[in-house]
Amino acid sequence: MMNNHNIPFLDLRPQYERLKDQIRSNCDRVYQHCQFVLGPEVSKFEKELAEFCGVEHCIAVSSGTEALHLILLAEGIGPGDGVFLPDFTYTATAEVPLSLGATPVFVDVDPRTFQIDPNSLRQRIARIKERGKLRPRVIIGVDLFGQAAPWKTLKKIAKEEELFLVSDCAQSLGGTYCAKMLGSQAQATALSFYPTKPLGAYGDSGAILTNDAGRDKIYRSLRSHGQGNQRYDVQRIGLNGRMDTLQAAILLAKLPSFKRDLARRRDIAAMYDQALQDVVMIPKRVPYSESSWSVYSILLRDQQQRDAMRSCLTKAGIGNAVYYPQPLHTQPAYNFCHDGQDLPISQNLAQCIMALPLYPDLSSRDVGRIIDVVKNQITGV
Ligand SMILES: *Cc1c(COP(=O)(O)O)cnc(C)c1O
Repeated sequence: MMNNHNIPFLDLRPQYERLKDQIRSNCDRVYQHCQFVLGPEVSKFEKELAEFCGVEHCIAVSSGTEALHLILLAEGIGPGDGVFLPDFTYTATAEVPLSLGATPVFVDVDPRTFQIDPNSLRQRIARIKERGKLRPRVIIGVDLFGQAAPWKTLKKIAKEEELFLVSDCAQSLGGTYCAKMLGSQAQATALSFYPTKPLGAYGDSGAILTNDAGRDKIYRSLRSHGQGNQRYDVQRIGLNGRMDTLQAAILLAKLPSFKRDLARRRDIAAMYDQALQDVVMIPKRVPYSESSWSVYSILLRDQQQRDAMRSCLTKAGIGNAVYYPQPLHTQPAYNFCHDGQDLPISQNLAQCIMALPLYPDLSSRDVGRIIDVVKNQITGV
């Protein structure tokens, strides 16, 4: 029997080995100039990222959660406001409206792309209007797992219903929609550079993207305690949402090879697709989009088959994960604000979905071994 090494679900170490000279010299410069918060590297990174995404304004902030928070704060979202968002997403998307006193309205998702379902969204808006307890205000489209949300339809619905449209693109920097980088589909886009995201810092950080010059100014003010043009001039109630200079220095070192990383992620996804399409349900592509493959999730027949697949991989020393094991509307902390609407697709995905390792430094040989283990588990005796 071959003595195989373990394949972690994610290994960030090889990337550091590749980029360490640049990372170290960028960080050294920060230790020398000592502008540790919103230093010159932060504005440089904002400029380069805006260019990369083809948007006019980039505002670097302290995390993806803070980016969403600042976006909703700027719109004055609060008690009595309804914020529509997918039921199948990371907890932060729902936590932010709740922390402002607003109410998340959970929307069901597409069973094969896992993205927010526009039909469910229309139904949820109609129902909330009919009940008359909440004022519909915002749609947060989440670009889940690296893929784009169905932006064309979301934009149409937002316009018809006069709702503010936000993109939670925390997982999907580098994905495209209609041949454009994600980042300009909504009125404001939130990004995260949490270490495990496609472009990861070495700590928490995030950004807001927008093409609206007025909002750019407000976001910059809000992230620095509502500051006006002068340092101790407080124009609005803000908070501390600033990016550390060291994170910007690290991100600047990583950005030049990010496109190559994305290409490698797409190659690995194509290998999985090809080998597994007749074995399990592979992720379906959102039309007119290209994924950044932050997560490669497959679907098994039921929870039993999913859990068996997980233990088999784990036994073979192969990392795996479930995003997400529980739909948001059933979470203990959020259940109180849910109106009781059934969200069966999201509920079912939580039982049947699981993610395979996918990161730029994963070798093709390891991908081959993962494929063999998955195939054997389904077809083997
Ligand atoms: C990671 C993530 C966030 C939060 O980003 P942080 O930088 O960790 O605060 C928000 N939404 C989604 C969908 C995420 O995956």
